[in-house]
Amino acid sequence: GFDLSQFEVGDLIGKGAFGEVYVASHKRRKRVKVALKCMMKSQEDRYLDVDGHSTPVLAEVAMMLRLMNAPRCPNIIRLHDWVELEDNFVLILEYAESCQTLLQYIKDTGDIEENQARRLMRQLIRAVMFCTERGVFHGDIHTANILVTLPRLELKLIDFGCAQPITHKPFNKSDYRGAGHGMPPEALRGRVFHANPAYVWTIGIMLYEIMHGRLAFCNRQSLMFGSIQINPRLSTACVDLISQCLIRNPVQRLQLHQVEEHCWFNSTTPNPV
Ligand code: ADP
Ligand code: MG
Ligand code: MG
Repeated sequence: GFDLSQFEVGDLIGKGAFGEVYVASHKRRKRVKVALKCMMKSQEDRYLDVDGHSTPVLAEVAMMLRLMNAPRCPNIIRLHDWVELEDNFVLILEYAESCQTLLQYIKDTGDIEENQARRLMRQLIRAVMFCTERGVFHGDIHTANILVTLPRLELKLIDFGCAQPITHKPFNKSDYRGAGHGMPPEALRGRVFHANPAYVWTIGIMLYEIMHGRLAFCNRQSLMFGSIQINPRLSTACVDLISQCLIRNPVQRLQLHQVEEHCWFNSTTPNPV
């Protein structure tokens, strides 16, 4: 196990809906760092597993554990251990050194080149495909739940607090527990939905946001009915990938394996002058 008393808690590095995240360094080996995600115990529902049975383990931990057996995916943040304190649960996570959230990276970088975007999207797809292989639907992919390390642009998917196990049964709208930016129209409409097409939609949403610096849809109305405004200066392959991931009908939408095989990933776009 992990001995928390060996660590000295440092700066607050992030804040989410339910918890605070701190960096902590090993007291003797200062270079060894972890991220501590501390969550108040007051949210009763956080003790329940996906079938509504109460469990001693957070659903978030249970979902992450599915992803921790070797071989692991380097694009998913590692869960070292967790501890239960009187009022808190603490997840002991791999600390992503010199990273930014994708949200911040997009803000700071301004116009992101397609080559950079391609590098990030490859890693996001790898993380997503790994999740599907292990039967995990993340359910809350958005730019604050993706970390990017600098300058190497390594991507780490974080925050499995809304994750659900993928079973033979489709999901209902209420199974999408995330902030909503990545929610596919079939879920919003209240129909049942499947993990893979929902992931593809989210991949399209992320690629759009990386290439435009803003959300593809600013509200529900435009998500359901609006047309997408794609920057005409993007390469045709990039425009094609975005539009095919953001097809509202999940049956017509690109499939997950087709996303990975899309020609945009084989091109190198000349950098703009
Ligand atoms: P919540 O479930 O409350 O949204 P998150 O797991 O998304 O919490 O973490 C909140 C923020 O903390 C993230 O957006 C990120 O900025 C930061 N963070 C979380 N985990 C790590 C980590 N392992 N390394 C570095 N920063 C992290
Ligand atoms: Mg979060
Ligand atoms: Mg969360």
